[in-house]
Amino acid sequence: MNNNLNALFEPKAVAIVGASVKELSIGNVIIKNLLHYKYKGPIYPINPKVDEVRGIKAYKSILDVPCEVDLAHIVIPPPFVPMEVENCGKKGVKAIIINTAGFKEMGNDGKALEDDFLARAKKYGIRILGPNCQGIINSDPEINAYCNFTFTFFKPGYISVVAQSGGVGAVIMQAFHDMGIGMRMYVSNGNASDISIPEIIRHYGEDENTRAIVVYVESLDNPKEFLEIGKEVTAKKPILAMTAGRTEKGAQASRSHIGGLAGDISLEHIFRKAGMLPFSNQDDLCNAAKTFASQPIPNGNRVGIITNTGGPSVIAIDELVTGGLEVPPLSDKAKIILKETMFESASINNPLDVVATAGAIQFKSAFDVMMDEVQIDSVYVNFVTPPFVDCESVAREFAMISKAKKKPIVCNYMTDKEKWVGTTNILKEAGIPYFDFAETAAKALAAMVRYNVIRNKDTGKVNVFEDINKDIVNNILDKATRRKQEVLTGEDVYSILEAYKIPAANWGIANNSNEAVSLAEKLGFPVVIKADSEEIIHKSDVGGVAVNIKSSEDVRKVVETMKNKLRNVDLKFFVQKFMPPGRELIISAKKEEGLGHLIMFGMGGIFVEVYKDVVFNLTPVTDTEATEMLDSIKAAPLLNDFRGKKGIDKAKVSEILQRISALVTDFPAIKELDLNPIFAYEDKVCAVDARIIL
Ligand code: ADP
Ligand code: MG
Repeated sequence: MNNNLNALFEPKAVAIVGASVKELSIGNVIIKNLLHYKYKGPIYPINPKVDEVRGIKAYKSILDVPCEVDLAHIVIPPPFVPMEVENCGKKGVKAIIINTAGFKEMGNDGKALEDDFLARAKKYGIRILGPNCQGIINSDPEINAYCNFTFTFFKPGYISVVAQSGGVGAVIMQAFHDMGIGMRMYVSNGNASDISIPEIIRHYGEDENTRAIVVYVESLDNPKEFLEIGKEVTAKKPILAMTAGRTEKGAQASRSHIGGLAGDISLEHIFRKAGMLPFSNQDDLCNAAKTFASQPIPNGNRVGIITNTGGPSVIAIDELVTGGLEVPPLSDKAKIILKETMFESASINNPLDVVATAGAIQFKSAFDVMMDEVQIDSVYVNFVTPPFVDCESVAREFAMISKAKKKPIVCNYMTDKEKWVGTTNILKEAGIPYFDFAETAAKALAAMVRYNVIRNKDTGKVNVFEDINKDIVNNILDKATRRKQEVLTGEDVYSILEAYKIPAANWGIANNSNEAVSLAEKLGFPVVIKADSEEIIHKSDVGGVAVNIKSSEDVRKVVETMKNKLRNVDLKFFVQKFMPPGRELIISAKKEEGLGHLIMFGMGGIFVEVYKDVVFNLTPVTDTEATEMLDSIKAAPLLNDFRGKKGIDKAKVSEILQRISALVTDFPAIKELDLNPIFAYEDKVCAVDARIIL
């Protein structure tokens, strides 16, 4: 198997098996597109019935082609595809784009055909893109490969796109084209029977002229590969990622909180863990990509604002600050320079209001100062085109300063583009990312700042806990698996927590009221009594929780009442020390097939129920990530000293997150784990309810 995708993206010669003289057929359109894009290599139409297609000599079989062919399209009906893959193998073809649809997605017969052509491809070491896909485009002027049946003929640029959905891919490609932005490479890989999206991302990562990668995925066959390659590539360049279908997945029911809260966005967690920039709409994604394509990455979050009109800069500041940017004051040195160059009415500060009458001289000075200020990492410009100013000269200063690529610049450009054609063209040609709205420009800049944080981030280390006892957990899980038990009993769950040194309120199990009384006396009053049965998941819902019980007599009463009411055959009584009120937290874990587990953290009670104020991270959770999780819920301030109330022991909570991460990683049989609630105090933390589902 050849693992590089060069034959696919940089074909030296392309054959079209199933070339057609019918204008409105894929086998014709691909040839038309190759010609229109001025493909640099030879094109070989393959069709036994015709002599030529679009004026190019056709061959009866690919085996008749007199020269080497490294890439072939196959656009013939599914039953004939395996034989043609075989012929391509004999011919020495290295990569095949199967545009034809009607394989795995059509059921068993289609699946058999797919298996057949894949086996043949493997035998010859051929890589397959598709089936059921558009193909690739490479704008490298040395290649100009338009091996694709779509219609957007983008000019060379620095953004490379990979989309699982050809429809979404085509929309994004056209959007860049309409913005006047070039692209480097494009691919939509359809059914992805062989060449995967992660492999394509890696290929883009290695391509010197790709500055930003745009990824659209709906599902992942191999999330681990996606995650690992993602991490590797984001260290070098930004990956802007988007998915969809969150409402659909969100509708799936689950037995625990985390299922309902996380199910809808699991792909986004993968994006984040990989260091990709997640986007939830195509507009934001394309605007950010446009900026990445032409501007250097800022080295920090401090922005200098230049404006020649008041209002829009106020809107910009809101959005910039929301996006994590800071607007530092200018240095005295800068102010002295600007006092010389600016008009009297200018406001010499950050934002720097150069006023509407500012011309090229004022703008140039403003740009120079911002570029020289050490406490400024990026420049945001609000530029309206006053009819009494030579705007083209201003635009030329813009172009000059942008060319130096010292710091990134974005612009909110306010004009009538049909009238200020000259000015617009100067900005466009200089690659200045300009936008109609202040918010849009600010968001695009904020995305770059986020990437800078990601690329410099120390992700921390995965703690290895030496004080745990895996044997205990092994025995419990073995026993449960043999009994085909899905919900672990309270006794088992708390024993597992103990084995992993995850603190919980003291507890014991009683079979009857006598045992419960003596347990309560041993634990010390007050106590809590909970019904313990495999069939009961939410204990308080069925009246299976009684808190703050202060005497032996009451223990006896509670046990008898529960026994009479619940009647589960396996009913036991979980007696637990009653804990005084503390901050209620929730920590959960949920298995993600092929990836590990998703860990959730949040405040319990209404914070999770109503506000859904929770954060997620994929295992393994490092020390840094655990601390970050604590700090990133909206209610984070409530974990610190707040209105006279002492903060909680955050280090301990962070440790529990890491221990839970270790537990579910060591025992992948655990499907769901829920500590809800955990009571956290100033000096200690302990779980008072725990559940494990296998
Ligand atoms: P479930 O979630 O199955 O309904 P819990 O064990 O979480 O049952 O108990 C319900 C509520 O009772 C908890 O959210 C908590 O507020 C309170 N509670 C449970 N155990 C204790 C305890 N040991 N000390 C103090 N309060 C408790
Ligand atoms: Mg609970």
